Amino acid sequence: MRALRRLTVRAALPEALLPLAPLVMNLRWSWHPETRDLFESVDPDLWVSCGNDPVRVLGEVSAERLAALAGDRKFLRRLSDVTDDLQDYLDAPHWYQSLGPDAPASIAYFSAEFGITEVLPQYSGGLGILAGDHLKAASDLGVPLIGVGLLYRAGYFSQGLSADGWQLEHYPALDPHGLPVKLMRDAEGNAVVITVPLPEGRTLHAHVWRAQVGRVALLLLDSDIEENTPAERGVTDRLYGGGEDHRLRQEMLLGIGGVRAVRAHCALTGTPQPEVFHANEGHAGFQGIERIRELTESHGLSFAEALQAVRGGTVFTTHTPVPAGIDRFPRALVERYFAGFGVGVHDLLPLGAEEDPTKFNMAHLGLRLGQRANGVSELHGHVSRDMFGHLWPGFDSDDVPISSITNGVHAATWTARELVELGTQTSSQGDPVDVAGPVRFDQVDRIGAGELWATRRVLRARLVDEVRRRVRETALSRGASEVEVGWTDSVFDPDVLTVGFARRVPSYKRLTLMLKDPARLKALLLDPERPIQLVIAGKSHPADDGGKQLIQQMVKFADDPEIRHRIAFLPGYDIGMARYLYWGCDVWLNNPLRPLEACGTSGMKSALNGGLNLSIKDGWWDEWFDGQNGWAIPTADGVEDPDRRDDVEAAAIYELLDRQVLPRFYETDRDGVPTRWVEMVKHTLAALGPKVLASRMVADYVQQLYVPAAGSARALAEGGYRVAREQAAWRSHLLANWGSVRVAHVEATGVGDTPEIGSTLDLRAEVELPGLVPGDVEVQAAYGRVDDTDGLHEVTAVPMAHEATEGSRHWFAATIPLERTGAFGYTVRVLPSSPGLATPAELGVVTTA
Ligand SMILES: *Cc1c(COP(=O)(O)O)cnc(C)c1O
Repeated sequence: MRALRRLTVRAALPEALLPLAPLVMNLRWSWHPETRDLFESVDPDLWVSCGNDPVRVLGEVSAERLAALAGDRKFLRRLSDVTDDLQDYLDAPHWYQSLGPDAPASIAYFSAEFGITEVLPQYSGGLGILAGDHLKAASDLGVPLIGVGLLYRAGYFSQGLSADGWQLEHYPALDPHGLPVKLMRDAEGNAVVITVPLPEGRTLHAHVWRAQVGRVALLLLDSDIEENTPAERGVTDRLYGGGEDHRLRQEMLLGIGGVRAVRAHCALTGTPQPEVFHANEGHAGFQGIERIRELTESHGLSFAEALQAVRGGTVFTTHTPVPAGIDRFPRALVERYFAGFGVGVHDLLPLGAEEDPTKFNMAHLGLRLGQRANGVSELHGHVSRDMFGHLWPGFDSDDVPISSITNGVHAATWTARELVELGTQTSSQGDPVDVAGPVRFDQVDRIGAGELWATRRVLRARLVDEVRRRVRETALSRGASEVEVGWTDSVFDPDVLTVGFARRVPSYKRLTLMLKDPARLKALLLDPERPIQLVIAGKSHPADDGGKQLIQQMVKFADDPEIRHRIAFLPGYDIGMARYLYWGCDVWLNNPLRPLEACGTSGMKSALNGGLNLSIKDGWWDEWFDGQNGWAIPTADGVEDPDRRDDVEAAAIYELLDRQVLPRFYETDRDGVPTRWVEMVKHTLAALGPKVLASRMVADYVQQLYVPAAGSARALAEGGYRVAREQAAWRSHLLANWGSVRVAHVEATGVGDTPEIGSTLDLRAEVELPGLVPGDVEVQAAYGRVDDTDGLHEVTAVPMAHEATEGSRHWFAATIPLERTGAFGYTVRVLPSSPGLATPAELGVVTTA
């Protein structure tokens, strides 16, 4: 028989233990070891059987145990300490509070997934973990962020394996009442219901669940409520499931419903309405459309004027250089869904236009709605400027207005406690770091090599135990009987070099590259003196059979009794498993097809624990590999045949392992410490630690994007959006006249035919601006090195001064220095200019001589 419905009957908390309830509802416990210790001591056995989930522990703990704890003075003292500590964390002014009034009063951060703890499985991989770390670091820094996402009733999926090594997907039914989230209620105590209009007069309804991440609220919309018809109830069933129709409805709920949820949250809690809206990837693009609709209704702005106002306060982050990874909908579907929405479909559709006229492109929507946009590593910034450059025709890719902020990871979440206690991370006073303050890495050198190595060994041994436990469980789940799984007790060895590889399984990440030469890999695994052991994990998207085949190939390889003690594929990759891998692996392997890894963050988490990266120079590793913090796998960029490229790069991995990694690891001093290895570990901690932090990342977002975006948004809103109206009018006037802008004549004086270095060149340009005034434009002298086909490189552009006007003709002048020898070239170009533009390339128009 199956239950119709399930619920959890919990014991009521005795008076003395009431403070446990708010503690469990603030997810700060997910990165605060002392709070977790406290929950563990509520019932240590339950803590293990509930998978370290404090909500479940409090749901299942017996009334007798609670009564005993209520009389346990030691426990009560700890409870009171931990409660005070949380209150101090929430109350103390943090970094953001020192920024002054230019900083936005609040920021809404939209993402389709959030990975905060395994207890709230609302993520599929890196994008979600990044969003979770963004919220945690924002909380630490005091950034007034509001997270916005969906509550998927089955999360992404939980992964199993068939006997045959094929990925199996399970969709556990999550009951929000058993999760650390609270229903948003209005002043009368009724659940707040958010609505989003659908075609044919239907309406999508949603409740909002609020998770508290330190000081940051995360709003999660849930469509599984009685107000909806069965079809609409399923909208938030699972992350990245379903067809186009389903995905479009999810994204409408996230974007449109998300803005409505933020409005309700702010009104109910007295939180200031956001001045900046940040869309983490394209899924949340419709938030801008809802804000446009709001302004057309509340202030009578036209679509163009409202767009102007909305863009100023919008930040868009793109995360994928893989064209297939970009979210696109059939244009006709968008047309149908937005027909009755309240903004003109003829205005909306051009915002998502792309090369294929039948598609609506969510990345293009994000870029057109966000005055400020960024990629997630320096290399990814370059790649994105190339990839999206056609949206700014006439500009070199260097001028395309997409910047970059390299991702980071939340140290307190991902670093093994033992390493923090050893002093790898310290506060500014040099004490072991306190979680609220800034993290420093400058005491690493003082740690003795022997001590550091001993801790690394403890962490590796803990990983080995976890691998054994999981390998055994997996073997049983794949059909082995108890008597057949004895071998799992002795898989892996706590003293063998341990290499980790764990991530999602899209083809560009090349899960099976290491299997290119199976004999060579086998030899490395089975080397009698200097073996390696390999632990592998990762989920394939349920609709990606190619990915599932890669997993199967890996599982079958690892099933071989000859090597199964040295290699394991662990199903069920999630935050809970990932932690053991980052703590315990000596080497973190990453071999994506360059440059398709936008950033990559798992290697950063390994580095915080003293793991050494062995990686293709892609994403963050391209930026921060320094020759001593790990190894760079040489890439066969430019080799067209993908098979040959794989061969070359796989061979490079075997070589590096054999010649560089293994000797260092196994070459020990008299005390058994591999001193040269430990040097690299220390260097990794000290040099990479400060860079890979999510707090560095969030501070960069605040300073480079949020504060300027708030400035733009405020300026545009002035005088009841008078400035937005003026800007929209200026923009449309400028674009209407741009076709006639012309550089009529350029003359250069000041040097002869053979100029010498150190001399200067006087440029004078005659520019025609019919219908415009000189203040509408910036005329620039652009100069630099010139190639054989007159292409300019390493360009410097300086503004030319307006000198004279005669009707629609204007003269501009500048003096440019000749600072180096060799071929030199220059030109003159005209760009739009207005205080409302974030960059001169923004309107995508330029006229060059
Ligand atoms: C960090 C992390 C990821 C992302 O790793 P990448 O290296 O960016 O692919 C995915 N899943 C989990 C559980 C993680 O902790």
